[in-house]
Amino acid sequence: MTPRQPLISMALFLSRESLVPGVVEVLRRELKLMKNLKWAGAVAFGFVFAALCVAERRRPLRPRVEPRPLHRAARNVTLGVSALVASTAVEWTVVRSTGAWAERHRIGLLHHLPLPLRVKQFLGFLALDYSIYLWHVINHRADGLWRFHAVHHIDRELDASTGVRFHFGEMSLTAALRAVQILGIGVDRPTLTLWQRLLTLSVIFHHSNLRLPVQFEQALSLFIVTPSMHGVHHSERKHEADRNFASLLSVWDMLHGTWRPGAAQPTITIGLPGRRDPRDLTIGPLLAMPFRPQRSSWAVDDSPTPGVLPQPASVA
Ligand SMILES: [Zn+2]
Repeated sequence: MTPRQPLISMALFLSRESLVPGVVEVLRRELKLMKNLKWAGAVAFGFVFAALCVAERRRPLRPRVEPRPLHRAARNVTLGVSALVASTAVEWTVVRSTGAWAERHRIGLLHHLPLPLRVKQFLGFLALDYSIYLWHVINHRADGLWRFHAVHHIDRELDASTGVRFHFGEMSLTAALRAVQILGIGVDRPTLTLWQRLLTLSVIFHHSNLRLPVQFEQALSLFIVTPSMHGVHHSERKHEADRNFASLLSVWDMLHGTWRPGAAQPTITIGLPGRRDPRDLTIGPLLAMPFRPQRSSWAVDDSPTPGVLPQPASVA
């Protein structure tokens, strides 16, 4: 018997027993399911985005200030598309290979904790969300990162479209951070995917200009970031922008003393006063902004907006 004969007979057995077509069929179904899940995620995002766009026009939280709303929306979506392309490129090249390598070699803290899978996944979820809180704080503190994040804060209004308006440099760096999160935390793929999807929905929700019933929003802000909370973070006054850094769970702001539930939204001025010139707000200058000499961003008057910060709070 030649060494190839067992292989041939195994292939004959598998094909005779319909095992190979069966396996191929299972793989095909799995691939289809994965594709469908991806489409389901995209459809859910599109549905929530569209629903928020309609709802925030019916129940606006803050007055509109941009004279050309369609230009602004087009600008935000264009920036969002460029950021999506850049971050997807980083995700497919750096993050996926890092994730597969870390999983294979059991790199990351959670791999070495003797805990049940569900507990590890829960801790992984919290660790991912806490690290993105810290990343947001660093984006405000480090000049090199603020150059990119300021493009997001320049928007003079806040609505669902601001939730996709990020400079491609910031989104590429945030995507690369994902590799660091995976290596440090040791989070598994399902937990990472769940967190990323919830984070995306949370980001467009808390940027929206949607006025919720006050008591409902106050209760909600104990758990997740709400539109009023994030409105405080987009104030032109620096000590107010140094509040509410969380992106999904609001507990991190509570722990760091930076939590401020939203109030008096119509009195808050959104944006960066150093960047009010309409010529700064077109696509070209916005994309080039991080690479040019920087101007002071914040309002000269840093006194509290009435009703927003009733008492001084410590900053992280
Ligand atoms: Zn920010």
